Amino acid sequence: MLQFPSVPVVSRLAPTPSGFLHLGNAVNFTLTWLLTRRAGGTLHLRIDDLDRARFRPAYLDNIFRTLEWLGLDYDQGPSGPAEFERYYSQQQRLAEYEAALQAARTAHPTLFYACRCSRTELARAAAPGGHYSGTCQTLGLPFEASGLAWRARVPPTTAIIWPDLAQGPQLVALAEELGDFVVRKKDGMAAYQVASVLDDQRLGVNFIVRGQDLRASTAAQLWLAEVLPGQAGFTRTQFLHHNLLLDAAGQKLSKSTQTSQQRGILAEGAAPQVVYRAVATLLGLPVGAGESLATLRAALPEQNSL
Ligand SMILES: [Zn+2]
Repeated sequence: MLQFPSVPVVSRLAPTPSGFLHLGNAVNFTLTWLLTRRAGGTLHLRIDDLDRARFRPAYLDNIFRTLEWLGLDYDQGPSGPAEFERYYSQQQRLAEYEAALQAARTAHPTLFYACRCSRTELARAAAPGGHYSGTCQTLGLPFEASGLAWRARVPPTTAIIWPDLAQGPQLVALAEELGDFVVRKKDGMAAYQVASVLDDQRLGVNFIVRGQDLRASTAAQLWLAEVLPGQAGFTRTQFLHHNLLLDAAGQKLSKSTQTSQQRGILAEGAAPQVVYRAVATLLGLPVGAGESLATLRAALPEQNSL
């Protein structure tokens, strides 16, 4: 059963210009749009360009063209690539992210440590599940030395809970599922989790729709919200983790369709109904509801759940 979010709703589409958008992205955006519009909410376009190493102008352009193809409008955010670069890029808020990290470390000196492990060392020493083994936990390395990452020291018994609108009550044992995650990268820039919490709070976002594969990420962000000064409001976010699209063999779609992953959904030359129908399927609606955004919207009931 899927619960609809309580009003008033403020949500966001949060694409990353590090590749062409694929079917999974398009489904997530359409579902976010649908549930936000049903609630009469406000929708932001919040492009996540923290990692400029994989950024390409063509990927940024593809975000706007994909949203247009899908017919999805939004209330706040850049109207195109030029406006994005000028007013909305995360590169303009790096100092804000850094200040938040410094404040968090000052307020909670035992919850962070510096890590000097190389990529090779990390791979060699990885704990079961691929997590960081904690090599640098007790070394007391200096935070300000260049080339070191900062990690959160996640207490072993940390349990993150939230009432998920699609999956029901959730519990993530953060130390087991994610381990001591990076909050500041070796290049001195805030990690994705930090920037994401700060940006969502700055925009007043209170409803986040994402795939089931991001549960651990959500748990990390909820943990950070209690630790980053002034971000506790993030813990009141309403989360909806939708099921992932599977192909006929039961594989995650984005992994199994490498070609479309590389070229993006737009390059397939299909009609947007392929996305709308996938959304209808995810919501358990008749496939016919996926003819258009209007039929999807009309198929949603007025009561609080589906
Ligand atoms: Zn280390």
